[in-house]
Amino acid sequence: MSKEVKLESVSLHPLGAAAAPEPELLCIYGTGDLGRSLGLRLLQSGYRVVYGSRRPHSCGPLPQGAQVMSHAAASQSAGLVFVCIHREHYEFLEALAPQLKGKVLVDVSNNLKKNLYPEANAEYLQRLIPGAHVVKGFNTLSAWALQNGPTDANRQVYLCGNSAEAKEAVAEAATKLGFTVLDRGSLTAARELEDFPLQLFPEWRLPLQVAVGLTAFFFIYVLLRDVVYKYVTEGKDNSFRIMVSLANKVFPIVSLIMLALCYLPGVIAAVVQLYKGTKYKRFPNWLDRWMLCRKQLGLLALFFAFLHVLYTLIIPIRYYVRFRIGEGIISRIKENQTNEFDNTSAWRSDSYFSVGILGFAVYLLLGITSLPSVSNALSWREFSFVQSKLGYLTLFLCTLHTYLYGWNRFLRPYTYKWYTPPGYILSLVLPSVVLVLKLLLLLPCVDRTLTRIRQGWERTDLEDDSKKSLLT
Ligand code: NAP
Repeated sequence: MSKEVKLESVSLHPLGAAAAPEPELLCIYGTGDLGRSLGLRLLQSGYRVVYGSRRPHSCGPLPQGAQVMSHAAASQSAGLVFVCIHREHYEFLEALAPQLKGKVLVDVSNNLKKNLYPEANAEYLQRLIPGAHVVKGFNTLSAWALQNGPTDANRQVYLCGNSAEAKEAVAEAATKLGFTVLDRGSLTAARELEDFPLQLFPEWRLPLQVAVGLTAFFFIYVLLRDVVYKYVTEGKDNSFRIMVSLANKVFPIVSLIMLALCYLPGVIAAVVQLYKGTKYKRFPNWLDRWMLCRKQLGLLALFFAFLHVLYTLIIPIRYYVRFRIGEGIISRIKENQTNEFDNTSAWRSDSYFSVGILGFAVYLLLGITSLPSVSNALSWREFSFVQSKLGYLTLFLCTLHTYLYGWNRFLRPYTYKWYTPPGYILSLVLPSVVLVLKLLLLLPCVDRTLTRIRQGWERTDLEDDSKKSLLT
């Protein structure tokens, strides 16, 4: 560490050099929420803490053991100052530039939205006090996380700054507090760090939009076919079906389509690689983006499948179902009719349920292996085996489950109300296309070429082209 950055520690012990060295003194500007939580953690970790405040005599209760004084006096005896003040109030720090020269200033600030200011807060602070060593850090932790400690919250502290020694000093404090430090480079990365806390599930946005869009579309679709159609053609009010029957039609449809959407980009990527004869050409941006959100698409698909399972379990206790069964029995008794056992129907319903249960079980396995704690315990080969092979098996079983649901009703005219196919037929289009394409890709001649491409081989005409361009 350079002399300039070296943290000073003032010995207050009466016995001077003979006594044990005093714990390091760190300074915190601002006695607000973050300042107090950080001060408490620092004291618990063995540091001494001094607060710099506009109102040292009336700033309210502070963590026990901490001192409080004016900004200039507080930073005098500490080499490291945490600036726990909103950027809007930084201007007053300019007057403290002489006192802060050579000190390490940790900028913990965040903004309310992205691109609010032309420069990052930390860069602004560095401009105000050019003689200090500004380090951006701790801004991704909340006051709550600091108070509860790394065992109960986010464990990572991101840092960036232009002085390696200054970063080292901040990293040492963060490590003592129990956090893992991730160095993001120079101060130019400050804006990126300041944008981190503003992100709201960025990788979930597209999958959620797809899920909401599909649910809305299919809900209106089945509502028109199952409720409005009945009302218009027969004058019957079927609206009670909205709560369970319609929901239990929409959820499996959305689940199956989203599961297919998880595997479609992989198939498209393979076709693109085969077409281009190389893996070294970038995929279009939309395909890259789609591939990056496959996990979220899959987890949402699993969520809808889970809803389908729950809704299916309550079918026997529904009033409507109990009424229809009772009515059927009574009318057969009245008309002295018997019911013939239909072996084919028994096979159909058993196969339908069995394949559905198997599909859901493998679906669950896929979801569990995508959890970081589980996937971290798997080798890359094991993970890709589960996500790819078992994934396609899930897609196959769930698609088969839906085909068995349709059974022999696919071509019956009465199912095409207002010339529209039932929702489950629509839901079968995408998974069937994905499965057929995957089968084609598994053909030995295609699979062999694809495997070679993925191992780095390029088609000869491409090699020739590149040689020609090198010669010309
Ligand atoms: P806060 O509770 O509002 O505290 C800010 C402190 O700044 C005040 O207590 C005050 O301390 C000082 N201050 C206020 N106006 C000032 C002025 N005009 N001039 C000089 N000092 C002034 O805010 P906070 O939640 O602690 O946040 C502080 C910083 O940490 C912000 O930049 C925020 O973005 C960042 N941050 C906060 C959290 C969090 O969870 N709260 C998380 C990450 C980052 P004195 O009265 O003692 O002077």
